[in-house]
Amino acid sequence: MSVVATRPAPVPSSPVDQIPALVERLRATFDSGRTRPLAWRRRQLEGLLAFAHEQGDRLVAALKADLGKPELEARAADVGQITQEAKLARKNLKRWTRPERVGGLPILGRSFVQREPLGVVLIIAPWNYPVGLLLSPLVGALAAGNAAALKPSEITAHTSAALAELLPQYLDSDAVTLVEGGVAETTALLAERFDHIFYTGNGRVGRVVMQAASKNLTPVTLELGGKSPCIVDRSADLAVTARRIAWGKFMNAGQTCIAPDYVLADETIESELVAELEKSVREFYGPDPKASDDYARVASPRHHERLAKLLEAGEIAFGGGSDAETRYIEPTVLRNVSADSPIMSEEVFGPILPVLRVRDVDQAIEFVNRGEKPLALYLFTRDAKTERRVLERTSSGGACINGTILQIANSSLPFGGVGESGTGAYHGRFSFETFSHRRAVLKRGFRFDLKLMYPPYSERKTRMARKML
Ligand code: NAD
Repeated sequence: MSVVATRPAPVPSSPVDQIPALVERLRATFDSGRTRPLAWRRRQLEGLLAFAHEQGDRLVAALKADLGKPELEARAADVGQITQEAKLARKNLKRWTRPERVGGLPILGRSFVQREPLGVVLIIAPWNYPVGLLLSPLVGALAAGNAAALKPSEITAHTSAALAELLPQYLDSDAVTLVEGGVAETTALLAERFDHIFYTGNGRVGRVVMQAASKNLTPVTLELGGKSPCIVDRSADLAVTARRIAWGKFMNAGQTCIAPDYVLADETIESELVAELEKSVREFYGPDPKASDDYARVASPRHHERLAKLLEAGEIAFGGGSDAETRYIEPTVLRNVSADSPIMSEEVFGPILPVLRVRDVDQAIEFVNRGEKPLALYLFTRDAKTERRVLERTSSGGACINGTILQIANSSLPFGGVGESGTGAYHGRFSFETFSHRRAVLKRGFRFDLKLMYPPYSERKTRMARKML
């Protein structure tokens, strides 16, 4: 049976004029102290776990309708991400929230760091992993004791509607609210005062968010994208490399923020790598990926149109098919792409992979460093010196050696960008930290009171200070 993405559902929206009252209600809940006790936080985490468990099928169906997302990808990357994060937060809640003793001069007193919730936070998510990218930051926000407003992407309308209908059954509705809609609704939300804004999406809107946040000096986390390079040197195992690149690139039809955006292949192995990539794609999706249940569709007609144009950016090594009606773009590898082609100046965010030839790893490093700092960097090599050189001389949000995507799967690693690919990070404990304020507390006793520090500052006191400080 082939996958055919249904037409986009009508754009969902919440009444804009009700947004100030919704945010006010969140503020009142937070101010009442209800979200602070660990028991409340635990209940919300349990709620999210129950939601993922009981509504998994419904979410998978919505993701299928919006993106033609295969069930396994929906379970692993969207639903599974919430479960993994919520379980980890539930298990560590006590440890993470415990005051953290720190050292210092005993004469000053005892010092500790207290994690306190920030207040009312706003989480804005994109369409490519519309469940995972909305609710896994929420895990951190709730574990840290905040109230939260959620804004899913309007592009994945079935998923947005399912979340709006179901989440209130599992979470404290006075502390978590979901606003459906697009630019108008997000703009109305951004006009409100929040204590943190967590935005995932593109850099253009990232700038809009940061500007709106500056009005109230609201801190932001920006999870953005960019062109994540994939460097393949001549020592790599090409069959394994190709499989791992093809998997990372073509899952969710290339609409993954950390998908390899382009390949820089050593010129001596480039043609063999391209042949192996084709072999992997055939193994994964068969001779006609359009008929495969395991291959997703592009999110919207607009994105389809943009990608269809990019198919002309180089010589098609394999793939190249497209169908606007079902928003299908075939897994495609392009060769002989020039560095100034449109496909090299914007994030591809679709199933088209340009492969560029480089003389050696140094030329690859130079190429990467000419662009903005990417969200991910991939390197395939057996050579430890090459690995060190690439890691030392480039910068990226995260990196994976001899693999793709999986750096996101370990919750002990921070996930986030650097420079143009974003600011701040989350996952696991880092999510909890993102939504907490680290309050510095010094506790003194009454018994010992050093008079030396008080005025009047006699000559003797000043002399002592000169010696000591
Ligand atoms: P999108 O169009 O769904 O936008 C994201 C959110 O911004 C949506 O909720 C949308 O309603 C809102 N929005 C759109 N225009 C707005 C405006 N003018 N004002 C206020 N809000 C607005 O998603 P997108 O940006 O197309 O997502 C794709 C991008 O996101 C890619 O660049 C990708 O790399 C990046 N991304 C990053 C991560 C990450 O974790 N770093 C994850 C996924 C996607």
